[in-house]
Amino acid sequence: MTGIMEGVERFDSPGKGRGLRVTRAFQVGELLLSSQAYSYVLSVKERGEHCESCFTRKKSLARCGKCKKAFYCDVKCQKGDWAMHRLECSAMNAFGEKWCPSEITRLVARILTKKKMQKDRCASEKLLLLGEMQSHTEDMDNERRETMEADVAGLHQFFSKHLEIPDLLPLSFVRQVACNGFTIEDEELSHLGTAVYPDVALINHSCRPSVIVTYSGTSAHVRALRDMKPGDEVLISYIDVLYPTEDRNNRLRESYYFTCQCEECESRSMDQAKLKARKRSEPIEPEAISNMVRYARKCIREFRVFKNTSHILHLTPASTLLEMCEQSLDEMGAVFDDSNVYMLHMMYQAMGVCLYMQDPDGAIRYGEKIAKYYRKLYPAYSLNLSSLYLKLGRLYFGMERNAECIGMLKKAKAIMEVTHGKEHFYLTELDRQMKEM
Ligand SMILES: [Zn+2]
Ligand SMILES: [Zn+2]
Ligand SMILES: [Zn+2]
Repeated sequence: MTGIMEGVERFDSPGKGRGLRVTRAFQVGELLLSSQAYSYVLSVKERGEHCESCFTRKKSLARCGKCKKAFYCDVKCQKGDWAMHRLECSAMNAFGEKWCPSEITRLVARILTKKKMQKDRCASEKLLLLGEMQSHTEDMDNERRETMEADVAGLHQFFSKHLEIPDLLPLSFVRQVACNGFTIEDEELSHLGTAVYPDVALINHSCRPSVIVTYSGTSAHVRALRDMKPGDEVLISYIDVLYPTEDRNNRLRESYYFTCQCEECESRSMDQAKLKARKRSEPIEPEAISNMVRYARKCIREFRVFKNTSHILHLTPASTLLEMCEQSLDEMGAVFDDSNVYMLHMMYQAMGVCLYMQDPDGAIRYGEKIAKYYRKLYPAYSLNLSSLYLKLGRLYFGMERNAECIGMLKKAKAIMEVTHGKEHFYLTELDRQMKEM
């Protein structure tokens, strides 16, 4: 099974190093490849909602009798997961509340265990071996180095009992996992867990991607977002493509250590629409706009810090978070049009806070406005758009606005038929929901 996969092949992509290309034509929505995870881990906050072993979402999961923290579909799933769960089961009891390894640490522990069990090339390594994934240790800044050292320390602290940790565990290995980890998300883009798929990690980035990665259980599916002809490079987006060129590249350099040279980054064709200023009788000075961009970036950063700490420590009440959003929207609104991506970013955050506070009217008000502009700024088959439609659909449903609900679910479905495929569990769920209404 080495090196061969039907319809796609590894090649040297000019200027990018290795990459993946198609060897035959693919139509929009067609599946290019699917890959089992080499290793994966369910997020701690999703325990009880999803099976720890196959990520199936259902109500009546059975609990691990020993730790009472992991949940499974049935005995088969539990047995299948034991080699991995045993790394955590008794440790969670022993540490109690103090058990808090990072998700990357948990994944690294699993990968080390898997590497011992699996000597041959794995089904997820047809084109690229785990060890061949990029690590970028040489480019790392101090902050990242510290995070990584903390991840290694966590490995020793929480996993040393069931895991032989190499004395000198190369930091580059932890970095490799952190750099190549895929976030598994549900249909509303909630984070479910982290996984590594070496073959999928071969795919290079573009801000105008030709394919998209979605998940079914713990497997990754790569589907075409447009018609492709033999020889076309397979390209995914590593980042949220909503933002203007400069922001996208800052993000790419920070997390992936490269600058993008895709058509969109060269032409910057969408930047003007993304940074649209408010229409006034007197045109707004460029300086006022660049000042406001700086202010917007600062707000986004600050809000992220507040939101993250409020989650963990319950320090910031939700109403304060909403006030932060509203205040920055007021300030920015003096210069930026409502369709400006920084406005949309804060509206999206505000919608999230409203959802959390169970204020459906507030959430709908923000959601409807965001949807109007997302449609213009995101590519046609975008998960950001479909997940927003699903959220709005759910909100309408809760308010018994069924016609509007069905309208939203239909829009989500049209996108997800391409991104997830018609047979996907999420699509059958959607059909069932619409029939019941
Ligand atoms: Zn299961
Ligand atoms: Zn257990
Ligand atoms: Zn680009």
